[in-house]
Amino acid sequence: GAKGEEGVYANVQVILRCRPPSKEELAARTQQVVRCDEAMRAVTLMQQVPGSKAAQQTRTYHFDKVFPHDTTQEKLYGSAIASIVEEVLEGFNCTIFAYGQTGTGKTHTMTGDITEELSAGAGVIPRAIHQIFGYLDSINSEYTVKCSYLELYNEEITDLLAVGADVPKVRIMEDRGGTALAGIEESIVKSSKEIFALLEQGSAKRRTAETLLNKQSSRSHSVFIVTVSVREVTPEGDEVIRVGKLYLVDLAGSENITRSGAVEQRAKEAGNINKSLLTLGRVITALVEGQGHVPYRDSKLTRLLRDSLGGKTKTCIIATIAPTVLCQEETLSTLDYAHRAKNI
Ligand code: ADP
Ligand code: MG
Repeated sequence: GAKGEEGVYANVQVILRCRPPSKEELAARTQQVVRCDEAMRAVTLMQQVPGSKAAQQTRTYHFDKVFPHDTTQEKLYGSAIASIVEEVLEGFNCTIFAYGQTGTGKTHTMTGDITEELSAGAGVIPRAIHQIFGYLDSINSEYTVKCSYLELYNEEITDLLAVGADVPKVRIMEDRGGTALAGIEESIVKSSKEIFALLEQGSAKRRTAETLLNKQSSRSHSVFIVTVSVREVTPEGDEVIRVGKLYLVDLAGSENITRSGAVEQRAKEAGNINKSLLTLGRVITALVEGQGHVPYRDSKLTRLLRDSLGGKTKTCIIATIAPTVLCQEETLSTLDYAHRAKNI
């Protein structure tokens, strides 16, 4: 939403993507309750009233962009993401999140198929890498590209690019210049080929760690960070380095967050409180409402993203939902959460 008022964070864009019904859902003829209207940028949920077969309540929400289930990866990227990556190349920090219930397409949207030659299934990360290197190869300046890949689980950060068994714990340090990370592998990459290798290596490590520790991937966040520095000479002959940083975040499943933005009682009892996910919601609300105090310090994720949330940085939240009646309560929560981030 674009609002020009002083002190109001106008740089949050919230987009919605509904996945297609799965083969199983189609086979079972599961009722579909979501209708997307791309032109009106509206999504309507036809909610069944419990206990009555016919009665329906409908709710409509508006977002900056609404992508129906047949939207291709290429279309989503071109119409919502490419302009953000351009900002990074101009020297700004930007963050793109995927938020939604497990199984609604966060990883499909953020990562999708990882192949160096882009395939139709390639998600935001491989397409962003292509755009970045396409630009860098087209200009006549020196540049450096660095990347890191982290996982955040139970408020602990793991470096997905570290090799070997004895990897140090990653710590976040804040200084004037923003966020710095200690104990982290920051690889300098020379080509999109190298960065693809790292993306694959990190994704494989994430899967292995999940199996070993038997942790549920749906409760971890992954953060892929690309820093682009370009050396430029001004017409006056001065040298300047333009630095932009892009955070690409595949968030933990949102299933334990209620419509009011609190944690469900059941989840609380099971100790399934995702502090980072909850705090992210509060930080975005504080930014959007222009509150003086933004609670960045309350979670690891928001500390990590501090220099890329608020201020001049652009933030894009891709809220993902499923089309069927079985998910309608979670869908409503996601629509409410996403709408709060956009509104006011
Ligand atoms: P999440 O990361 O939110 O848990 P996934 O990205 O793993 O969800 O998606 C769950 C399943 O649905 C996967 O098999 C994925 O390929 C499929 N899927 C998700 N979104 C789409 C989409 N827009 N088009 C086609 N298939 C999708
Ligand atoms: Mg996933």
